[in-house]
This record gives sequence, structure tokens and C-alpha cells, in this order.
Amino acid sequence: MQRKCQGCNKTFTPPNYTMMRCRSCAKGVGYPKKLTEAEIEERKAEHKKRIETKEEKREYNLRAPKEKKTPKQCVVCGKDYMATSNLGKYCSQECRKEGKRQYCIKYNEERRNERKRNNGSSKEKHV
Ligand SMILES: [Zn+2]
Ligand SMILES: [Zn+2]
Repeated sequence: MQRKCQGCNKTFTPPNYTMMRCRSCAKGVGYPKKLTEAEIEERKAEHKKRIETKEEKREYNLRAPKEKKTPKQCVVCGKDYMATSNLGKYCSQECRKEGKRQYCIKYNEERRNERKRNNGSSKEKHV
């Protein structure tokens, strides 16, 4: 497809339907960039480098322990700390003990309440 340039009246081959000016009049805008030999080589090298670093990263991930530290808040004292596992909720051994104790109390209380509720409903049924 040939077209007359709106800038210099020269006939040229537009890269797409919307281009009304030749490459020099449009200052290359909208035209696909022509790569020089050196640029092609550069891109190849860059691409290779990217792949290599990716491989390196992958290897590193394989080698690295799965331990991922995430900032968390201790459920006992409310202190921010770095948790090494998703299961941890406590910043220290003391807080872990305290947390377990509180959990036991809560659990027992809940059981007691449940029993009370059950007793209440069964009594109602009898009446
Ligand atoms: Zn032109
Ligand atoms: Zn704590």
C-alpha cells in the first residue's frame, strides 16, 4: 500500500492505515522502530541475562529454607513481632504459655456454657 506523505508529498509505504506522513516527517512516531544489528545483539544479551537471573533466583528459592518471616501481632501482649510460621500467634515462649492458658480457660468456659444451654433446653422439653 502506497500513500502520499502529507508533509513532503513523497510517496511512501505506511506501516499502518492511520499513518499519513512518511517516517522522516512523522519523526518516526508511530512507525515500528528499526533495530540495528548492535541493538539486536544487545537485546539478545539482555534477554539471556534475564533468563539467567531468573534461573539463579529459582535455584536460590530451591536452596533457601521455606521459612518466611511475616510481621504479626502477638495475641497475648499485642506486641508486633516477626513470625516464622503462619501457625504462630505468640511473640515469645511466655506468651505462648499464657495464650494456651487463656485458651484453656476460654475453652472450659465455653464447654460449661454449652452444657448449661443443653441442660436448659432438655429441661424445657420435659416440661
Ligand atoms: Zn514526508
Ligand atoms: Zn507476646
